[in-house]
Amino acid sequence: MPKRVVIIGGGVGGYPAALKLAQMGAEVSLIEKDRLGGVCLNRGCVPTKLFLHAANLLDQIKDGRRMGLQATGLGLDLSRFRKHKDRLVGELVGGVEKLCQLRKVKLLKGTAVFETPRRVRIQGSDQAISGDAFIVASGSVAGSLPIEGADSPGVIDSTRALDIDRIPSSVVVIGGGYIGLEFAQIFNSLGAEVTVIEMLDRLVPGEDADVSAELTGSLTSQGVRVITGAKVQRIDGSPGDKAVDFLVDGQKKTLRAATVMMAVGRRPNIDSLGLKEIGVKLDRRGIEVNEHMETCVDGIFAVGDAVGGLMMAHVATAEGHVASDNIMGQKEVIDYSAAPRCIYTNPEAAAVGLNEDEARRVHGQIEIGRFPLHSSSKARILGGPGFVKVITEKKYGRIIGVHMVGPKVTELIAEAALAINLECTSKELAHSIHPHPTISEALMEAAMGLEGYKINCA
Ligand code: FAD
Repeated sequence: MPKRVVIIGGGVGGYPAALKLAQMGAEVSLIEKDRLGGVCLNRGCVPTKLFLHAANLLDQIKDGRRMGLQATGLGLDLSRFRKHKDRLVGELVGGVEKLCQLRKVKLLKGTAVFETPRRVRIQGSDQAISGDAFIVASGSVAGSLPIEGADSPGVIDSTRALDIDRIPSSVVVIGGGYIGLEFAQIFNSLGAEVTVIEMLDRLVPGEDADVSAELTGSLTSQGVRVITGAKVQRIDGSPGDKAVDFLVDGQKKTLRAATVMMAVGRRPNIDSLGLKEIGVKLDRRGIEVNEHMETCVDGIFAVGDAVGGLMMAHVATAEGHVASDNIMGQKEVIDYSAAPRCIYTNPEAAAVGLNEDEARRVHGQIEIGRFPLHSSSKARILGGPGFVKVITEKKYGRIIGVHMVGPKVTELIAEAALAINLECTSKELAHSIHPHPTISEALMEAAMGLEGYKINCA
């Protein structure tokens, strides 16, 4: 008898696990209450990156004037953009549907709730499905602030920001994490006056301080106003004329803007699945799981944003694969040490492994190699500022962290992730021949710096 596996949630945590399990011989049911692809395909990674691509193209064409490029009448027709976005998303979602059919994954539409640890019911129907194992991949929802006016008209979240029909004249973005910064970039490139308000003392506070400083510098130089160490207290006013009250250095200040965007993080979507009732433990991050992606209830696994931690698409997918392997009898563990983190601003930022502070804390003695992108001919061609920073532990020269800001670094970070995964040393990276002219040479040059010689920078 094939193993019967039921997956709740058809996002990038759930659907790749369904496809893998089906290929491993399981009988798979995938329950989705909305559209396959979840946040990533429908409201997250894909549409935001398309929006950023359009905004960046505009910036690049404007920048091209420096080298004689002639273009007039530039602008973005938002209604055509939205049609294009919806078509692209529709095609990708349709592709997932077809793959599920091909792999004989049974798709069920509706909201799943656990009745027992071995059975879920589809709410509002008489359909119940039993399984030998379950994966909860129910994702997350946008967070908000517990302040007056947080959900008043004229305050939007990332989902609504993707469907606006005109670019507001001014926007206050609350939250300097990656989602806030990506939208700050979009709005700024499309002509809005943008201010980012961040509660902590720097943007993207979880990232390396150098990444944070470089991004702050680049956004500021493009006209984005950045206010850090500021606690938003209240949002007032009507759509088109909102007022945001905040405290900074003990002083009360107010900023007015046409639109306020809330980008203060996401929280796991786990409240109405009946998990507590069947004994699944929840912690402050989300569903509690061990390194095998098992919950405390035998046979129930959880993955993706629902378990909190690194809420990113590729992490959700990797967790789904680990859960699938373990359901089918293997003993795999999830390893987050080489999970890349990307920010698709212009220039982009990307990181993998430990930042400098963490590296010092964990390893004590570390070494740092750094290559400025103004010394990279490819970066000069593309016109992007930035740097590549490689951190090694001192004893063996093993790479433990890589941080980058610059054009196309979200592609380059995969090489650094592989280097960390394979426990590569700076010597091995420095000796690996990189193509010219590419941004990837900067990674090699930063590693060369760690080996004691600098070629293309002082
Ligand atoms: P989700 O994508 O949230 O999917 C969960 C699915 O479960 C949903 O489809 C939901 O309808 C369904 N569901 C929930 N409860 C039930 C139920 N009871 N019954 C049936 N179905 C249910 N990550 C990146 O790596 N790169 C990016 O560039 C990136 N950009 C982002 C931009 C934005 C604006 C946002 C909001 C997020 C972005 N992310 C990005 C994060 C990424 O989208 C998430 O980490 C990822 O979608 C998590 O996948 P998931 O499968 O865990 O959850």
